[in-house]
Amino acid sequence: MKLNNNIFENTEVAFAHLTNSDLQRAKLLFSTVGNPLLVSAGSSAANLAIKLRLPVSFLFRLTVYDHFCGGETFEECKKVIEHLAENNVGVLLNYGVELKETEEDFEASVKENLSAIRFAGENATVKSVCIKLTGMGRFGLFEKIQTGNELNKQEQKELTQVKQRFHKLCKEAAKQQVALYVDAEESWIQDPLDAIVEEFMAEYNRQFAVVCNTFQMYRHDRLAYLEQQVLKAKKLGYILGAKLVRGAYMEKERERAVALGYPSPIHKNKKAVDADFDGAVNLCLEDIAQVYVCIASHSEPSNLAAMQKIDELKIERNHPHIWFSQLYGMGDNITFNQSKLGYNATKYLPYGPVREVIPYLIRRAQENTSVAGQTGRELSLIQQEIMRRKNC
Ligand SMILES: Cc1cc2nc3c(=O)[nH]c(=O)nc-3n(C[C@H](O)[C@H](O)[C@H](O)COP(=O)(O)OP(=O)(O)OC[C@H]3O[C@@H](n4cnc5c(N)ncnc54)[C@H](O)[C@@H]3O)c2cc1C
Repeated sequence: MKLNNNIFENTEVAFAHLTNSDLQRAKLLFSTVGNPLLVSAGSSAANLAIKLRLPVSFLFRLTVYDHFCGGETFEECKKVIEHLAENNVGVLLNYGVELKETEEDFEASVKENLSAIRFAGENATVKSVCIKLTGMGRFGLFEKIQTGNELNKQEQKELTQVKQRFHKLCKEAAKQQVALYVDAEESWIQDPLDAIVEEFMAEYNRQFAVVCNTFQMYRHDRLAYLEQQVLKAKKLGYILGAKLVRGAYMEKERERAVALGYPSPIHKNKKAVDADFDGAVNLCLEDIAQVYVCIASHSEPSNLAAMQKIDELKIERNHPHIWFSQLYGMGDNITFNQSKLGYNATKYLPYGPVREVIPYLIRRAQENTSVAGQTGRELSLIQQEIMRRKNC
């Protein structure tokens, strides 16, 4: 089937998995999220409620949590996963609890991720587990490595522990044939994160992509880095795992660059980011035997361009090296229409105790107000579907 600009307009396909009351809740949610004043007031109130330990979990559960998260436990997530599987949509699982910085927390995070990998191994449509290296070691440690200052004995031990923790996860992921997607984070700690992921890809990605790095295409140096990574993988004979995103820390990156007086690592405008994102997708698709790619974006033009490129290159739409992904609760018009057309579609599904996932949800709401147009687009599609059902 030839693809055109209308493929993401089919709201019947996009929202078939939602009941009328789910749709009404989503409508209320995106109307609220579309109002920066309400989001700002709501975020402050939510943060205060957490600090005061007020019993607000049930309120979140009924509103934002169920829209954006899979559940508090794997058992609860199963319902959502099965629901998505009925529509041929897979899942990238993420423990949505915000990170703390003690050794006990790092060990607890490894334990949680090991359980997630085993759960993924038992559930065919859970394709990967998303992790952060700052969930296994201190932010300050990575920051120091990036400055080039020599690590003291204690810090060297910490780095060794980070790698031991990561090895544990990779071994289990290899055994369960589950991919580990390592998040990209702030640019001032990203160099050591990249170095560790590269080392692990070379070790584990011989038969399939156990480890995948994330490339933030809002950085002006990332397309060149990706090109270099493809060449390195070819030379050393492993599969490059590449999750492509635009990037989540634009404001923070720019503010820090101004405050410390260095050139911002972020592209000057969105157009340049879009060009690099699409360029990165093409680069990966043109070398698909060497690269395993996850195209993680809510941009309709970028998703359409990627789908057209797959067809143009005559790659099977469900090639095991190509995955699309959007956040659970967003971009359903992209995900479900992609899956209907035979492409590998997935949802990024956070899970975890409601109270502990609240900070993730607040960030999500704030990101929605800053991602121009996205909230309005979600709302108008939901309204369109409500009207369509009324007229049926
Ligand atoms: C499965 C998944 C995994 C993810 N993993 C990560 C991760 O590991 N690390 C991470 O940082 N993010 C991650 N993200 C978040 C991702 O970066 C944001 O969802 C994304 O930036 C939003 O862009 P978009 O492609 O969806 O949509 P679009 O709306 O097309 O793009 C919005 C993005 O473009 C960029 N942008 C907007 N305006 C400008 C401007 N004026 N100048 C320069 N850039 C601009 C920003 O990055 C902004 O977020 C992930 C997202 C998904 C779905």
